[in-house]
Amino acid sequence: MHETISHPERERLQAHLSLQRRAFLQEGGLTAQRRDEALGGLADALVRRAEDFARTIAEDFGHRSSHETKLADIYPVVAALRHARKHFRRWMRPRRRPIQMMFRPGTGRILHQPLGVVGIVSPWNYPVQLALSPLAGAIAAGNRAMLKPSELTPRTSVLLAQVIGDVFDPSEVLVVQGGVDVAQAFVQLDFDHLLFTGSTPVGRQVMRSAAESLVPVTLELGGKSPALVAPDFPLDKAAERTAVGKLFNAGQTCIAPDYVLVPRGREAAFVAAFRKAAAELYPRLAANADYTAIINRRHYDRLRELIADAVKRGAVIHEINPAGEDFNGDGRRIAPVLLTDLPDDALAMQEEIFGPVLPVLAYDSLEDACRLINERPRPLALYIFSHDRESVDCVLERTLSGGVCINDTLLHCVQEELPFGGVGPSGMGAYHGEAGFRTFSHARSVFHQARFNGAGMTKPPYGGRMNRLLSLLLR
Ligand code: NAD
Repeated sequence: MHETISHPERERLQAHLSLQRRAFLQEGGLTAQRRDEALGGLADALVRRAEDFARTIAEDFGHRSSHETKLADIYPVVAALRHARKHFRRWMRPRRRPIQMMFRPGTGRILHQPLGVVGIVSPWNYPVQLALSPLAGAIAAGNRAMLKPSELTPRTSVLLAQVIGDVFDPSEVLVVQGGVDVAQAFVQLDFDHLLFTGSTPVGRQVMRSAAESLVPVTLELGGKSPALVAPDFPLDKAAERTAVGKLFNAGQTCIAPDYVLVPRGREAAFVAAFRKAAAELYPRLAANADYTAIINRRHYDRLRELIADAVKRGAVIHEINPAGEDFNGDGRRIAPVLLTDLPDDALAMQEEIFGPVLPVLAYDSLEDACRLINERPRPLALYIFSHDRESVDCVLERTLSGGVCINDTLLHCVQEELPFGGVGPSGMGAYHGEAGFRTFSHARSVFHQARFNGAGMTKPPYGGRMNRLLSLLLR
């Protein structure tokens, strides 16, 4: 039996939802003109406040590279808002559909209509991008929206609320702040659609809550995303690109390569190439503005425990600390660690790593590599390094993941024309670009009967005419 959480905030949340729903019922979805203004206004506000966000997110993280904030939290949202602004009128256009001969001259079309009020729950790792990219799709589709950002980035949530308040009336979009208890009450609200980004275990609970009121959900979850280096691909290049994708935001990225598969016998060469690449990217770590800290002590301790567990189980630890710095201070930065000879039951192979720790596993053939990937839950991302078309096609055919990036890391996620989402335990549904517009729209089928039509042909009393028609149809 579903337990409704009683929370003092519940009534406040319900009042916000009622305000937006009333506005939707009275005024309908946002007009095209309002969508245009809002998408443009929010993009401009983010550009104007980019420095404020960089500073605020850095305070929430302890340290967050300001370049990474601008590159991964501000730029993708600005790009998404501008892309949606440019294309939403075309996405909105009703689509004519052909009608079978026997129902002509009736016509058919599909209207994409706003659902109403959308709920968006977002995590801390990219606190602006993961709150506002879904919003771009929701607004493009004409919805109103309530956002619940993560309690682990509270200063950023305050700033988000300010920026949203500058661009939107609360009857259009508002930000709800608070802890997990507020999030739990939030996902019980009777939204017209709920988009949740976060971990797979919490996603499960969110879906359970939403099921109570049959609220449709899009779940953007996590998992262990593999990188597979094929025998033909230069190891140093694969290592460098894996290092870039893994160490961005100190590995706290849902699509970061979680483990890497290399041809058997080349593990040591990969470790050496990764070490070299990482040292070039980050000659120092603890005192480097480019290297981001771990979000909080709990996650820091979790990662330390992951490494300690690997040691206990006999794995070989390769720490990368080019300047020989001391990491035992309060900075919450962790030097990158590669793990080889790691048994499968180690924690680092059982859960999503979400930090700068990378197991390096060996495979015997591409088939074997695909088997190793398929033994685990379907991942959010898959990275394939190969210039050999047949090898790439073979891996694409034999595996399934939310998305794929070939010969690089992370970049599939910032393509507005490519839907972004997981599959199975890494999520359901997708957004970005037109996929986001569709996620937040109802595709409404409309059949329009013609003034003069053949409907009389199919009504009772049935007899010879109907028999002749059926014999034609069922030939
Ligand atoms: P999380 O699941 O702990 O929290 C995500 C959000 O859910 C937060 O806003 C939190 O307040 C809320 N929440 C927490 N407990 C809840 C509950 N019981 N009911 C309802 N809401 C609840 O995740 P996190 O630690 O913030 O983020 C890391 C996870 O998110 C990783 O697993 C990562 O892979 C995943 N992630 C996925 C994507 C994606 O696009 N697929 C993007 C970023 C992060």
